[in-house]
Formats: sequence, structure tokens, C-alpha cells
Amino acid sequence: MLVAFLGTHVPLLTLLLYFLTTNSSSFEMTLRVLGIALVATLTGTLLTLYALHNLLAPVILTFLTLREYSNKKKLPNLPTKFTDEVGILMADTVRTIKQLDEVIQHLTNYDNLTGLPNQALFQDRLQQALIRSQDNNRLLAVISLKLKNLSEINNALGRDAGDLLLREAAQRLSASLRSTDLLSRVAKDEFALAQTDLAASEDILPLCKKILSTFSTTFFIENKPLHISVSLGIAVYPFDGSQVDQLWENASTAMYLARRQAQNNYQFFGADMKAQLQERLTLENELRHALTRNEIHLHYQPRVELHHNQIVGVEALVRWQHPELGFVSPVKFIPIAEANGLIVPIGEWVLRTACTQNRIWQEAGLPPIRMAVNLSARQFEQSDLVERINQILEETGMDVAYLELEVTESLFVDNIQNTINILQQLRDRGITLALDDFGTGYSSLNYLRHFPIDTLKIDRSFVRDVVADPHNAAVTNAIISLAKSLELKITAEGVETQDQFEYIKSQGCNEIQGYYFSRPVPADALARLLQTGVTGSESAL
Ligand code: C2E
Ligand code: MG
Ligand code: MG
Repeated sequence: MLVAFLGTHVPLLTLLLYFLTTNSSSFEMTLRVLGIALVATLTGTLLTLYALHNLLAPVILTFLTLREYSNKKKLPNLPTKFTDEVGILMADTVRTIKQLDEVIQHLTNYDNLTGLPNQALFQDRLQQALIRSQDNNRLLAVISLKLKNLSEINNALGRDAGDLLLREAAQRLSASLRSTDLLSRVAKDEFALAQTDLAASEDILPLCKKILSTFSTTFFIENKPLHISVSLGIAVYPFDGSQVDQLWENASTAMYLARRQAQNNYQFFGADMKAQLQERLTLENELRHALTRNEIHLHYQPRVELHHNQIVGVEALVRWQHPELGFVSPVKFIPIAEANGLIVPIGEWVLRTACTQNRIWQEAGLPPIRMAVNLSARQFEQSDLVERINQILEETGMDVAYLELEVTESLFVDNIQNTINILQQLRDRGITLALDDFGTGYSSLNYLRHFPIDTLKIDRSFVRDVVADPHNAAVTNAIISLAKSLELKITAEGVETQDQFEYIKSQGCNEIQGYYFSRPVPADALARLLQTGVTGSESAL
């Protein structure tokens, strides 16, 4: 406006002023000149304004477009066909804003590290998938997946190694999926997956198994081999929820329970799961203090040698008496302790206490007996296990000839050669080894002859029906003859009745353990049993 005014009015007004001051013509003439000058300046101003408006229009449009994008995120709609400078300005503006928008979209919807969709985008896509599932009357499964040891890897090898691991994990997951499946990284070490168009809940299992199998292959991060375990929780639409949030929450609950139960497993959501998880969390928290609060103690169950009917050993069995929760069965808390690693200090305490007790009995003049102690597979993960056991033997002064360690078949799943080496070292030290719960695990019979063990303990599930069920009897007989041919001793667990006792004895079993003779009892009660001896049944004790 100012430009228009200055451009047209200043020269005209100067001219007019000059005319008025130098010209002495009539008043009428002066008025006429003034009128013409006024019309001329007004016309000039309008024409200048018009010209300026046309000249500045693209700039103003571009300015408004930029304002609209920054305020309302509205993408520009400027003409891009002009080739003059302002035309190029508009085209550049359109292109730059669109590129910027793409970058912003990516940053807000995708995970920087893995390039996978983030939780917001996953939920958005899941919502659409849910609508399709509702329309097509099909099931949809949501999986919550958590890596187990990312924090340890970050601490041990640094964040960069952790990041590489996450990328590799994301790639392995992507490779396991169909193109219609959804995958997202929703938290540090947590992924979300969804599979649509399922006819039954079990149809999600092939994917779960594929994922577990792909994660069972060793990761090589910075040339270091790493083993990663994952836990999967599954929630299925419509059974476990019809809303995105509900399905995700339930899948997460199932995952947390899966995580607490075992390494590398999956778990479907169940209605009572929240209560179970709550109970587990309570047990987990309480278990952390159980040792220091002296809530843990041992019971001892006799092992009876069948030839002379006498107690030749005991098995030390851990007991947890909580002040409010009462007696908590080892069947419940040992798996928790195994999952969170507390089994290591608990196991050491059990070994130390059992060894000490054995010595006390011997020093009291009772007949010397073998002390069997259960050793969890988790304890084998300690690189100094053998030294720790040696140290406890030294500390307690226990005669090594009386120590037996019970291990289970789960030990022989991973890293078999390493396990065999450790067992061999223990055996070289003079410790006897028993394979506990035989027949329930994964032992390959072929491997059995390579395991440095002395005794097979037949699981009580076989013994239970040995009289009533011919199939069970056949399996038990086969285990006994297998053990004999491998020159192993055989102990039958869970013998409860006279019939079972006689059957087992007739098959040539060496020792038995079970309620028929005695339940696990405290140390003083066991001392009395050792004094009186065993005559044949629980009632006789
Ligand atoms: P296990 O090592 O196989 O121990 C034998 C289990 O069978 C004991 O259960 C014992 O009470 C039970 N049992 C013995 N005779 C009979 C019978 O005639 N009938 C029946 N129904 N049961 C019988 P418990 O004490 O509940 O222990 C269960 C499991 O917990 C043990 O199975 C073992 O795997 C684990 N456990 C117990 N103490 C320890 C420990 O100190 N360390 C580790 N790592 N695991 C332990
Ligand atoms: Mg045992
Ligand atoms: Mg057993």
C-alpha cells in the first residue's frame, strides 16, 4: 500500500504543488487541475495495487500454505506447473513439505531401531484387522512376545550389542511371518504380533512354534554366540476380548505367566490367569526373603534297600513354611525359583544344610547313610558349580562317599557335552549321581549310556499304576531291565502300597522310596527311624 502510495502520489502531488505555487490562473482552473490530479492518482494507485497483488499472490499463497501445514498438518495444494521463479518456489515448497511429512510420519509411527511399526501404528492396524475379522466371522490372535535376557546383554556387552540383537530378533520375527500378519516393537524388549483369519485358536500354534524354533538358533552378535529365550502370551478374539486394548492386555498377562513358568514357551490367556499371576508374583516376592527369614527347612525321606529292608539313604526335600501363606509345596515354588534364579542360593543352602545334617547324624553314632540332594538344571549354568560343591563338602566336613546328587533329564536338552563334563568331574570327586523322575523327560535312550550316572530313579507316575495297568507295568519292567543292562542301580519312587512294593521288589529293583515306608520327615524324626530301623510299612515305622 505504501509502495503504491509513494509510487503514484508523490510524483503527482509534487507536480500539483509546483503547478499551484507557480501558476496564477483562476480558481476554477485550479479546481479542475486538482480534480484531474485526484482522479489520476486514484487510478494510478488502483492500477499499482492490482499489479502488486498479482505479483505477490503466489508468495502469499505459499505463505498461507506453510501456515496451514504447521497449524493443521494440512498437506499443500499449490500449483506446480509454473516455471518462473515464484512457480519454482511453490513447487519446491510442495515437495519439501511432502518429504517432511513423510519423515514425520515415519518418526511417529515406526521404531527407529528396528524399522518396525510402533505400538500406535500396530494398534491402528489391529483395529482394522479386528473389524475385518468381525465381518468375516474369523478368529484373530494377538501375541505378546518378550525377550528374556536383553538387560544382561546390555550390561555385559554394551548397548550397541543389545541394539544389534534387537535388530536381528526383529529380522527373525519378520521372516517367520506371513505377509498379512502384523508385527511391531512395542517396548524395549517387547514385540507385538497378530495373525488374522484363523479358524480355531490352535491355528496360531504353528507360528508360535516357528518363533520358538527360530530363537533357539544361536545369535552371533559381534562374533559372540548368544542364547536368547523368549516368552509368548496369546489372546484370541473373540474369546479373550473384542477390543484392541483388552486383547493386548490379556496377551501380556499370558506372556508374563509364560515367562515365569519356563524359558522359551508360550501360553494362551485364561480367565483365571490374572489371579494366578498375582499369586505367582506374591510367591516370587516372598521367596526372595524366605532364606533370610529362616522360613526354609529340610525334610528327609528314607530310601530303603530291598535286600535287607533297611534305610540306606535319605533324600533331602526342601520345605517352605510361610507365616501367612502357610506351607507352600516345592512343586509350586521350585519352578518359580528356577525361573528367577533363586534356586541357586536355595540349592546351595539345601546342600550345605543336608551335608551338615548328615555329619550330625554320623557324629551322634547313627548308622551312616547316603544323603541325596536335588540339583536343578539352573545350577548347572554356574561355571563354578563343581568348585562350589567342593567348597561345601570341605566346609561341612561331609564324607563325599555319602553324597548323591539327583539331576533330571531336562539337563540333557542343551549343551549335552558340557553337562556330561561337569557330571564326570563330580563323579571323579567320588559323588554318586542319580537320574531323577526317569521316564518323564526327554532323555534319548541312546544318550543314556553316555551319561555318567549311577542310579535311575523311576518316576512315581509309573509306579502308581504298576499293579492296575499292564502298560505301566510293561514300561516299568523295560526301564528296570534297561538300567540293569547299563549296570545302573534302580530306585523306585512313590511306592505307596504293599502291592506296589511287592511288584517292584519282584522285578529286582534295588531301593525304594515312598509313603509305604515313610513320608519325608524332619531331621529328629529321621534320627528315630534310623535308630529303630525299617520293618516293612509306614505303619510299622
Ligand atoms: P523329587 O525329587 O522327585 O522328590 C520326590 C517327591 O515325591 C517329593 O515331593 C516326595 O514328597 C514325593 N513322594 C515321595 N514318596 C511319595 C509317595 O509315595 N507318594 C507320593 N504321592 N509322593 C511321594 P516334594 O517333597 O513335594 O518335592 C517335589 C519336587 O520338588 C521334588 O521331586 C524335586 O523335584 C523338587 N524339590 C524338592 N526339594 C528340592 C531341592 O532341594 N532342590 C531342588 N532343585 N528341587 C527340589
Ligand atoms: Mg529327587
Ligand atoms: Mg523324583
